[in-house]
Amino acid sequence: MLNQYSRNLLGKFLSLYQSSDQISIAILSEIILFTYGINRVLRLVVEPNFSNEIKRTLFNENLYFSSGKLYEAIKDNGWSSISNKPIDNKMRTKVLLVLGNELSDVEDCYKNELNGDFRISGKYFNYPDCCINSYPAISSSQEKWANSLIENSGPGPYPCWANRLATGWGGACFSGELFPCSLHCENAIAIGRKTYNCLLDIGFKKLSREFLQQSLNPLIVHKNGKIEKVLDSQKYKNNIIKFFK
Ligand SMILES: [Zn+2]
Repeated sequence: MLNQYSRNLLGKFLSLYQSSDQISIAILSEIILFTYGINRVLRLVVEPNFSNEIKRTLFNENLYFSSGKLYEAIKDNGWSSISNKPIDNKMRTKVLLVLGNELSDVEDCYKNELNGDFRISGKYFNYPDCCINSYPAISSSQEKWANSLIENSGPGPYPCWANRLATGWGGACFSGELFPCSLHCENAIAIGRKTYNCLLDIGFKKLSREFLQQSLNPLIVHKNGKIEKVLDSQKYKNNIIKFFK
C-alpha cells in the first residue's frame, strides 16, 4: 500500500491531471509508477506555464526538478518528436520537466533525454532492453510508428497490457509512454500489469476499469499511420485489431 507521503503526492498529481489537458491519460500510468516508487523519475513535456504550476504544486514534496526549453512537433496519431533545437517552423516551444527523489537521477535523466540518449534515459523509466533496442526502428517510422509496431508484433489479437496503439486515438496505456518492441512483449506486459495492480491497490477501481476498457477497445491502423478507435456500431469494418485481457 502507499504510505501517507506518496498518497499525498498522488493526490496532488491527480489534481494537476484534472485541471489541465496537458497531462494525458497515458501519462497517468507513468505518474502512478513514479508515486509507487517503481520508476525513479517522471518526465513530462508541457507548456512553460504549466511546468511552473507543477513546480508550485509540488513545492513541499522533497522532490528535485530539472527543466528547460525543448521543441516539440506532434502528428495526428500522437507521435511526438522532441528536439533541443527548433528543426522546423511547425515545432512548438515546450518545457521538458524531469522530477524525482534523487538529484543525480533527475539531472542525468534530463540531460540524456534532452540529448536524445534514449538508452540512458530509458533506464530511469525501467524500460526493458528489448524495447529500448527496437526503439530506433519505431521512431524512424515517425507518423507510421503504429504500422511498424504491428509489423513487429505479428498476428493479433494482442494482449491489452502494453497497448501503446490506444494512445494514438487519445486512449490510456497501462505501460505508459513506453514503445514496446512488440504488443506481445512479456517485459512490457509486466509493466502494464504493474500499473493495473497499483490502481487496484490504491482503490481506484473505476479508473482501472476505464483504463481496461480503453486498452481493450478495438482499433484500426490505417496505411498512413492514423489510428482509429472502433465504435460498437462499426464492428463490420475491415482490418479491425482486437485486444484481450
Ligand atoms: Zn520488449
